[in-house]
Amino acid sequence: MMAKTIKQIQQGLAQKKFSSVEITQHFLDRIDSHNSTINCFITVTGELALQQAKSADLVIARGEAQALTGIPLAHKDIFCTDGIKTSCASRMLDNFIAPYDATIIEKFKLGGAVMLGKTNMDEFAMGSSNENSFYGPVANPWDFERVPGGSSGGSAAAVAASLAPAATGTDTGGSIRQPAALCGISGIKPTYGRVSRYGMIAFGSSLDQGGPLAHSAEDCAILLQTMAGFDPRDSTSIDRAVPDYSEQLNADIKGLKIGLPKELFAEGLDSDVAKVIETAIQEYRRLGAEVVDIQLPNSNLAIPVYYVVAPAECSSNLSRFDGVRFGHRCDNPIDLEDLYKRSRAEGFGDEVKRRIMIGTYVLSAGYYDAYYLKAQQLRRLIKQDYEKAFEQVDVILCPVTPEVAFKQGAKTDDPVSMYLQDIYTLSLNLAGLPGISIPAGFSQQLPVGMQLIGNYFDESRLLNVAHQFQQVTDWHLKAPEVG
Ligand code: GLN
Repeated sequence: MMAKTIKQIQQGLAQKKFSSVEITQHFLDRIDSHNSTINCFITVTGELALQQAKSADLVIARGEAQALTGIPLAHKDIFCTDGIKTSCASRMLDNFIAPYDATIIEKFKLGGAVMLGKTNMDEFAMGSSNENSFYGPVANPWDFERVPGGSSGGSAAAVAASLAPAATGTDTGGSIRQPAALCGISGIKPTYGRVSRYGMIAFGSSLDQGGPLAHSAEDCAILLQTMAGFDPRDSTSIDRAVPDYSEQLNADIKGLKIGLPKELFAEGLDSDVAKVIETAIQEYRRLGAEVVDIQLPNSNLAIPVYYVVAPAECSSNLSRFDGVRFGHRCDNPIDLEDLYKRSRAEGFGDEVKRRIMIGTYVLSAGYYDAYYLKAQQLRRLIKQDYEKAFEQVDVILCPVTPEVAFKQGAKTDDPVSMYLQDIYTLSLNLAGLPGISIPAGFSQQLPVGMQLIGNYFDESRLLNVAHQFQQVTDWHLKAPEVG
């Protein structure tokens, strides 16, 4: 079928070119044909999807359609979905049927969207390659032997392969932007507090933020419109009006000040990736933007700080999975201690255990000051770097990843080289800032992403700046051949 993007599906539905049931069936058929190869869905909710599509068609027929009425979407399996398995790609939650909807799921339901299923991810969102899933790795649709990025790799691969027009993801240290980059699609991580975390299984609570992955900035704007907003059920949610993200997409960017942080173009960046980004910068110059050099002197601290803060928070968050209240429980425990130990030993995968151990260590009485407290102090310096930079520029442009999608297995035995993949994405989570990743070109026939970082609550501008680039380039329209 003809329609691939949300925008196109909206138009097709409005012009009665197809019904929601037809377009939903189209995506379900594609999932049926390709999921065994790509492994991007953990759960496919075909029956529910068709039911929701049928209701959506009635709403459309009555002329009461909202922006997302009848639009099929996929959701990262980190969002609780009432009555549907919500596994976080962990054996620990393999048997967990969520008893309620996450706020964003509820909002999509109220908005009339259709749910195709739940997407694969790194276990508890820990990883950069989607190889840490209890349900097996996800293949990159551009090259099945390569990783799609992580942790929202299932969502990114599903969109890139057109098994879903768009999907939700979460980003604690890059998990929307990095898989979007490696799969050649667009993804935005909003300002911390913009999108409710209620019902989103917690990894690093001071870093986690949900957001959309889609084919274009325009589609991201449509999805973010529904996702964003204050939620009294999330105490870190910010009560601030949500602008009309689509309205500002076409604003002229003449005179826009783009900052290039020299620290993020230094050693370690693949030279082909650097060339692609250089060309994109030229494109922005042609569009009338002014490009200036800026400094983020503490960016080298992002990896060590993040890999103290995130494990610390996860070790606390994951303590609730104890085999008692819900989730995996070992067989025939001999006593309570055995129940805790074996349930957790069996339920969690290696990377999750590694993070729990690091986190427990840095939070322990003897090491708290040396690691956790110090990391929080350095986190402040990283935030201050950005504050200074935004006194000079409107947006910051930099790479998303140091290289294109790597081969599956290439980094699984070397956690530090895996952590280094996050070098350009972590710092804005530490600062709480929004960032978008959009396709900027290709290297070795694999997509290269570019990252735009905005000031707090400047999602409209990021979407606008990304959309303007997508008006004069066609990288975001390229699709892998998956059949
Ligand atoms: N790759 C990073 C990690 O492993 C970020 C993950 C994320 O954003 N959820 O922690």
